[in-house]
Amino acid sequence: MTLSASPTSPPLLAAIEAGGTKYVCAVATDPARPLLETRFPTGDPHETAARAVAFFQEASALHGPIASLGIGTFGPARLDRAASDYGNILTTPKAGWSHFPLVAELKRALGGDLPVAFETDVNAAAVGEARHGAARGVRRVAYLTIGTGIGGGFLDDGRLLHGRMHPEIGHLIVPDLDAAYGKATQVCPFHGSCLEGRASGPAIEKRWGKPGHELPDDHPAWELEAAYLALGCLNLTAAWSPDMLLLGGGVSQKSGLIERVRAELERLAGGYWDLPPMDEYLKLPALDQQAGIVGSLVLAREALA
Ligand code: ZN
Repeated sequence: MTLSASPTSPPLLAAIEAGGTKYVCAVATDPARPLLETRFPTGDPHETAARAVAFFQEASALHGPIASLGIGTFGPARLDRAASDYGNILTTPKAGWSHFPLVAELKRALGGDLPVAFETDVNAAAVGEARHGAARGVRRVAYLTIGTGIGGGFLDDGRLLHGRMHPEIGHLIVPDLDAAYGKATQVCPFHGSCLEGRASGPAIEKRWGKPGHELPDDHPAWELEAAYLALGCLNLTAAWSPDMLLLGGGVSQKSGLIERVRAELERLAGGYWDLPPMDEYLKLPALDQQAGIVGSLVLAREALA
């Protein structure tokens, strides 16, 4: 009697959280538990892609062939598989990256038949939180990130919202709340008063002359920040009707900020929507900085199906 073949090992998933300032690369068989992970600054696109490829080749030598790749990238990017420039970064101020064919470059090195999922970094983070984080079991999840920029993704019953390009909720237009504080700060070169221009980390630093983490909890900066973020959350409540809104990114971690945003959102909503209690509706992510890479690994697994 011969022994049957050794049990099939689970497929090795590869993922990149392709941020504008750093790349995080990982491999895993279980998306919640990366086996190997590396991070490096996002530099020249060809060199950055080559570093990712080198990591996956080393990981593959240790753990076997890579079965699929999930990418959560900074935007704008072409997500539409039917488009001729699918897999490309679109026009971006980031030097060298405009129209860079990221998916094609990676597939050229890792194999033309490799199944690939190509998403925005915020959509990937929404998936990570929905499968393994604060929004487990929640059907409709909106994820906002407030950091160097402001971005957002929406997962609707397992399906990520793309639209013609993808949501760019950082550029929702908001009223000027600066004037009441004797300020006039906005940092977006495209719009007079958009959420990112008013409420991103760079806007806080420009307005108050210090980065947010140096401003005390009772500084007026946080009342104003909460008011802007509540406007963003209200607009997303109106447009997307999520079951839960997650506030990610470095700025959201400020102690006491989410409580202020909840109070202001409740006030602005005016009882119009049948919303869950605010501390269940508006939450901080649970995976912290891992949401993007975990979500990209989940997307890699889904790309196998
Ligand atoms: Zn803008």
